[in-house]
Amino acid sequence: MKKRVTIIGGGLAGAEAAYQIAKSGMAVDLYEMRPQVMTEAHGGDSLAEMVCSNSLGSEEISSASGLLKRELKMLDSFFLRSAEKNRVPAGNSLAVDRLQLAANITAELESMPGIRIIRQEIREIPATEMPLIIASGPLTSPAFAQALSGLTMRKNLYFFDATCPLIRAESIDFSKLFAASRYEKGEADFLNIPLDQEQYELLVTSMVGAEPEQARDFEKEIFFDACLPVEEIARRGPQSLAFGPLKPVGLVDPRTGARPHAVVQLRQDDLKKDFFQLVGFQTRLKYGDQKRIFRNLPGLENAKFERFGRMHRNTYINAPLIINQFSQCKKNSRIYFAGQISGVEGYVESVASGLLCGLFASRNELRNPLPETTAIGSLLSYIANAGWQDFRPSKFTFGLLADSGVECRDKKRKKELKAERACEALEQWIKKLAI
Ligand SMILES: Cc1cc2nc3c(=O)[nH]c(=O)nc-3n(C[C@H](O)[C@H](O)[C@H](O)COP(=O)(O)OP(=O)(O)OC[C@H]3O[C@@H](n4cnc5c(N)ncnc54)[C@H](O)[C@@H]3O)c2cc1C
Repeated sequence: MKKRVTIIGGGLAGAEAAYQIAKSGMAVDLYEMRPQVMTEAHGGDSLAEMVCSNSLGSEEISSASGLLKRELKMLDSFFLRSAEKNRVPAGNSLAVDRLQLAANITAELESMPGIRIIRQEIREIPATEMPLIIASGPLTSPAFAQALSGLTMRKNLYFFDATCPLIRAESIDFSKLFAASRYEKGEADFLNIPLDQEQYELLVTSMVGAEPEQARDFEKEIFFDACLPVEEIARRGPQSLAFGPLKPVGLVDPRTGARPHAVVQLRQDDLKKDFFQLVGFQTRLKYGDQKRIFRNLPGLENAKFERFGRMHRNTYINAPLIINQFSQCKKNSRIYFAGQISGVEGYVESVASGLLCGLFASRNELRNPLPETTAIGSLLSYIANAGWQDFRPSKFTFGLLADSGVECRDKKRKKELKAERACEALEQWIKKLAI
């Protein structure tokens, strides 16, 4: 019988895994519950939908997301290739038309030989002797999360995150904004709302004073530090936003020739420029408060919101207890976890995790873990070996790469050297395994 891999979840990780498996000549059953069962964040039924920001981060190799993307390219990532075809201007970052990208990926996977896409919610762990990849993501359906609790030894698998609002272009008064990228890197891809001290303080006090949406009784409120709601950052101190997501460094208002006290940035969300995201404004403020507070910002007085910021679940396993470096369940080696549920955090990390799971599940001979000098290898090793007591999903950072063998006082150069070393190690791994 032809080996057939089952994947639960057609998100970023599941779609990438499906492609890699089908490419190796094996058959795939990809289960996706949408559109019958929707999540709180997905807007449609396409596979690989990016649910919030349309940015995949910097392309510079000395940045964490830049190195990850370089490695994904070397590993022939399907998602990355599609993302590059659907890019929208965003300085030195790779930003995309999210919906177009998801539509293209869906069409390509639907027509790929060997892939069967089944629109169905999985509520129990399927009994199969074949490899099974669980890639149901941070918004795994509650029934399936419950089914997983036997395997993962945890009753609750989630904590909380928040997303940013999306504004309709026709409702923005562009005359009050200026276009520029920080430090003039790339084109003038961001729209900037300059704030003086008074406007900044009004924004901070109104956010701090507003009442956030309450978590339900049975839900524990734990925020993930890398994705704090903007009002939580504001609560940490009057200037915390001016030094954080609203920092004005590298931005000069051409009309005054001066650097504003703070800057709110808008980033294009789609190719047609119909929608703009409020960058860094992930929030759990009530919808009425979001409308009232954000309409105080210059240029947004008549803003129409395509989507408000929201609070959402973030489901993940306690990776160090459950999986090994091959993302394989310690209790049952036919089961793999991929994407955000496996304990990685972020779009690019989820794609990377899906790609490696696809390779591991389809190629038995891949018993050589990725070198820990590579970004993806160090991330998979970290989540499998971190302390389980306070485990939280992790993004890739250069801190995960060992310093040994790379001596340099200049921080940027040191990152470049580590990145070069990572690419060399990955190239050797790819050659050795003839991927
Ligand atoms: C609201 C929100 C906003 C986020 N914003 C960002 C951001 O701006 N930037 C960033 O880098 N990361 C962000 N993340 C984190 C993460 O990068 C994304 O969630 C990413 O999509 C994770 O990829 P994934 O493949 O693991 O999960 P997903 O892309 O969510 O895919 C999982 C898929 O499984 C399906 N599914 C769930 N349960 C079942 C079931 N029982 N049966 C069948 N199918 C099922 C879902 O419908 C979904 O299509 C965000 C997460 C959330 C929840």
